[in-house]
Amino acid sequence: MGYAITPPAQAALPIAGSEDLFPVRRVYCVGRNYAAHAREMGHDPDREPPFFFMKPADALVTGGADMPYPPATSDLHHEIEMVVALKGGGANIAVEAANELIWGYAVGLDMTRRDVQGEAKKMGRPWDMGKGFDKSAPIAPIHPITETGLIETADIWLEVNGTKRQTSNLNALIWSIPETISYLSGLVELAPGDLIFTGTPEGVAACVKGDVLHGHVDGLTDLNVKLV
Ligand code: MN
Repeated sequence: MGYAITPPAQAALPIAGSEDLFPVRRVYCVGRNYAAHAREMGHDPDREPPFFFMKPADALVTGGADMPYPPATSDLHHEIEMVVALKGGGANIAVEAANELIWGYAVGLDMTRRDVQGEAKKMGRPWDMGKGFDKSAPIAPIHPITETGLIETADIWLEVNGTKRQTSNLNALIWSIPETISYLSGLVELAPGDLIFTGTPEGVAACVKGDVLHGHVDGLTDLNVKLV
């Protein structure tokens, strides 16, 4: 018995300092996880539990490849984010046990067709086409936690063409990484290979073809991506 068509390729991330790849199962993203970003999007950060959306695993852009400016938008926004990769899973994971599931960390971009997302919000429709489009998730090589240690306090920033656009620190997350993992595991069963984009700080804005995006989290490999 075989497959009726050639099976799709396994999505995978380069690992810093290794020839091995980290295979990706699902890509979860947290919405509005920094207070100042929630406010800039017109929401009260004090009253919201975390909420989640997804991107397809094959939306990841790796290896420093260019990101093509996507179709169907004239308002493509950058969202720099800390990404957590899981080596373990389960349901209803306690906050105190959540860090044990982390395999490593990477710098990622949750690229967003803000006009498409805005229309979806207005109409009460799903965000998928605003968030989960092709090549919407550029990501740098992943670093194993065995080398970085637990990362809880680190500067996170994004430059566009050499100018700082977003800057914050992971200690400004509304829902910490273990709290996020725990909460998400109450909604879906997590598994090895899952990624979680943990939310973006304030300063999101539009970018255009030709822009060079340079993302950073202390202790990790920087993300460099050109929009073409
Ligand atoms: Mn985001």
